[in-house]
Amino acid sequence: MRPVTERDIRTSFINCSKGETQRLNLPKDFAQSPWEDLDFLGWRDPGAPERAYLVAERDGSLVGVALRVTSGASRAFTSRSMCSLCLTMHTSGGVALMTARRTGEAGRQGNSVGQYLCTDLDCSLYVRGKKKAAGDGVVEESLSLPEKVARTRANLFAFLAKV
Ligand SMILES: [Zn+2]
Repeated sequence: MRPVTERDIRTSFINCSKGETQRLNLPKDFAQSPWEDLDFLGWRDPGAPERAYLVAERDGSLVGVALRVTSGASRAFTSRSMCSLCLTMHTSGGVALMTARRTGEAGRQGNSVGQYLCTDLDCSLYVRGKKKAAGDGVVEESLSLPEKVARTRANLFAFLAKV
């Protein structure tokens, strides 16, 4: 994605109020993000660990989504689980259910959509092999890197479309 500024980020959110958008904490050193390796900028709020954010470029404009991280008791605490965006397998704790309040009337009625995502939201880096999941996360696949990136983006945009 192209490098974005703090102002770009704060004006990109589609599912939270202006007040929330102003209060959220940006990732430390986000200006040094490896933009060329990112399909989206995702981070946990350094001041509120139950909050996470995801900012992506869609059709030339930025779309930001605020997420709630559900840490909840996992039934299979020792099992592995998969991120629904990048399909990386993680050991327990590496994937969390994150829910986004829907936009508009649906959101006002309390509707949300949830997805299991990498808890650090570094999907772009896992896909590119720039970051390794704990416990050898990689599922052997015959897909090329561009195909994996395309799949991750398709999953991302499918998720954004539901918010
Ligand atoms: Zn992921």
